[in-house]
Amino acid sequence: MSIVRYQGVDRYVGNTPLIRLRHLSKLTGCEILGKAEFVNPGGSVKDRAAYGIITDAEQQGLLKPGATIIEGTAGNTGIGLTVIGHARGYQIVIVIPETQSPEKLSLLRTLGAEVIAVPEKPYRDPENYNHIARRLAEERGWFWANQFDNTANREAHYRSTGPEIWKQTSGEVSGFIASVGTGGTLAGASLYLKEQNPNVAAVCADPYGAAMWSWFTNGNTDTNDGDSIAEGIGQGRVTKNIEGITVDKAYRIDDQTALTIVYQLLREEGLFLGLSSGINVAGAVRFAKERGRGQTLVTLLCDSGHKYQSTLFNREWLATKNLDPGLPLESIFR
Ligand code: PMP
Repeated sequence: MSIVRYQGVDRYVGNTPLIRLRHLSKLTGCEILGKAEFVNPGGSVKDRAAYGIITDAEQQGLLKPGATIIEGTAGNTGIGLTVIGHARGYQIVIVIPETQSPEKLSLLRTLGAEVIAVPEKPYRDPENYNHIARRLAEERGWFWANQFDNTANREAHYRSTGPEIWKQTSGEVSGFIASVGTGGTLAGASLYLKEQNPNVAAVCADPYGAAMWSWFTNGNTDTNDGDSIAEGIGQGRVTKNIEGITVDKAYRIDDQTALTIVYQLLREEGLFLGLSSGINVAGAVRFAKERGRGQTLVTLLCDSGHKYQSTLFNREWLATKNLDPGLPLESIFR
């Protein structure tokens, strides 16, 4: 039997470095650690879900060679599906609201996805982009990835993110902090970690305008006040990936706090990240301050700042949102 020594790019999803955030670790007396998800082939944590969903569909016989995969997505999942899908020989169709930034649409087209831009409609409207994706899949015999309610998504984190964190911290992890888009990351990794040690705390960091803080704290999805510029996170309903999980603590993180963290990490750690990473790290610092020194806290650095040059890293744009990139850390954590 020949030994396979070399693998295609789809096999290099995950096994990301665990980076010590030196300054924040010192400030809190805890180890604050971030998994560098931006090193995945498609550049984000969503490569894990894309890999998991495609592999699961193959195992169930739902994807024949050369098949077409369709998804309604505004961002990283589309990129992940396109990169991993092409490496496996599939065609990718992405249904996206036309209100998304032109950079995103052109990036997906450059990567080789067929992009169908549709008018933005709420989830309850049959013309919402997710429902269009589902219908097209039914009509044309395509495979619908369905990242929100396909639990192969959380399974991917149960099989990769969770075990990697356990191994990389030699079982010393005491808390795992994640924000929620589909909920796959938070659910899958925390389920695994709690199985290894029930005392590992699962912590949700939620942006304003989402309902997950309310769901985990009060058991209802009533609170969705305020707003956030964070992309890829901010969930208003209990997806199949979230169903049945419990967390030990949930925080609401405002955009200014997350932005101050993103700029601190850029200036003092050499890390160029998107806003969901700032929300995650802010949640880790809150938890560190609340539970005290000596903990080992792990969160995700979900994607890099490259896609957000014209927004997060553009001072004029930030000013229109009343956000200040120059605030010191002390202004948000006393
Ligand atoms: N951060 C970014 C930048 C994302 O694109 C996503 C996924 N949409 C998340 C965080 C949240 O991940 P999950 O879907 O596993 O909850």
